[in-house]
Amino acid sequence: MIKTLLLVFLTAISLSSIAQKVKDLPESKLEKSVLEKHLRIIASDAMMGRRTGEQGNNLAARYIAEQFRASGIKPTPDNDDYFQYFSLQNVAPAKIASLSWGGKTFENGAEALLIHGKENQEEGEAVFVGYGEEKDFKEKDVKDKIVVAQFGIPNSQNPMEAFQASKGKRQLAEKLGAKALIELYHLQLPWKSIVNYLNNTRMEMVSDEEANAKLVHFWINDESKALLAKINKEEDKHISFETSGLIKSLVRTQNVVGMIEGADAALKDEFIILSAHYDHVGTASHAPGGTPEDSIFNGARDNGMGVVGLIAAAKALGEKPPARSVLFIAFTGEEMGLLGSQYYSEHPLIPLNKCIFNLNIDGAGYNDTSLVSVIGLDRTGAKEEIEKGSEAFGLGVFGDPSPEQGLFDRSDNVNFAAKGIPAPTFSEGLKAFDAEIMKTYHQVTDEVDTMDFDYLLKFCQAYVYSARLIANKKERPQWEAGDKYEKAAKALYGGE
Ligand SMILES: [Zn+2]
Repeated sequence: MIKTLLLVFLTAISLSSIAQKVKDLPESKLEKSVLEKHLRIIASDAMMGRRTGEQGNNLAARYIAEQFRASGIKPTPDNDDYFQYFSLQNVAPAKIASLSWGGKTFENGAEALLIHGKENQEEGEAVFVGYGEEKDFKEKDVKDKIVVAQFGIPNSQNPMEAFQASKGKRQLAEKLGAKALIELYHLQLPWKSIVNYLNNTRMEMVSDEEANAKLVHFWINDESKALLAKINKEEDKHISFETSGLIKSLVRTQNVVGMIEGADAALKDEFIILSAHYDHVGTASHAPGGTPEDSIFNGARDNGMGVVGLIAAAKALGEKPPARSVLFIAFTGEEMGLLGSQYYSEHPLIPLNKCIFNLNIDGAGYNDTSLVSVIGLDRTGAKEEIEKGSEAFGLGVFGDPSPEQGLFDRSDNVNFAAKGIPAPTFSEGLKAFDAEIMKTYHQVTDEVDTMDFDYLLKFCQAYVYSARLIANKKERPQWEAGDKYEKAAKALYGGE
């Protein structure tokens, strides 16, 4: 009995001293009205949906940089400002692109998609190469021929693998002197959603190889597999096509990057990276949706809230730095395919092997204000700190809300994870992608006025305190044993 009482008493003392400590930290003093102001600016109509390469996006970048400056965050060494500039390739659909085969014409944006290629008009004989693996190309003579391949790779319905393979097939066909490459599309992912995405203006990384490549590359809808049957039987081998070519232009954009030095002489050579993407999809002229009254995708939840979390971290950690150094990165180009983080991870301003952890923020929206969702919570070695950091501000922590969606690999954190850096994504509270989330997810309705600012405050405080605990943690967080990125970590940091 006594022993129990004593235990209760001691626990009460130690809990109150922890509470005292948290209360004294700058994250406890973050002001709701100030965070609300940041969000109202970042997600305002004036930012026009922060589309990469556009003025609203540049304005948001400037706003973030000035918040960094005001909080005493410094540019990284070798950079005299907070901006990491780079160019992206803007790709717009061809004005003319069509293909005739077996008495049928396939028009771009309907049953055909021109994926690649400059102005060209040709006809020729089709050569079928199966899935178009290297060995398939070796078996056939494709020079001056129109190469036809099955879309994807054998025994896989994974679209990402298929897209990756598609590029490889094109490079092979080009190298071997083919006139064109045609892939017959029949994955489970509906053709219509592929068209919606690819028959719009999009952005990609600039590469010399792609810039000089000319090969015309079509995808054709073959969900019925009728064309596959035809080419297998060697029927109708004559194909002709005409295109004015994809319309390409360069777009300049920027990541916003700053740092603070750690407070501990021994640990300050190590960094934790705090990140959030600040771009969004723009206006209804680029993205499907919108009404006559509202055409702006404000992206208050996605990812205005994350940007405010990053600004809050700059303020609180700038005021009282943790043991390790902290790198703050606001990424551009996420909505265009994680391009800002891809660029950064290929051109880091602090060597990646000095960066021991990345706590990214990105969110689709929230339907539960009692918690935060952390994608990769169990995989990245900082569960204890994230739970403690969130609970201190009254929030529970939920692991991956929707494993079937593969969210871990769908935000900027993956570009660090792939290099080996443990990198979960700290997200707004959701347990599942339900109708409530879809009301605002990538919609013009993702507006500041519909948000809960008490939750915004707790979310930011939980993020900052979790980050502080990780940056102060004695041991570096490690990938869960056997994780698919563990090998990359060994390559990055060394080790057995
Ligand atoms: Zn996002």
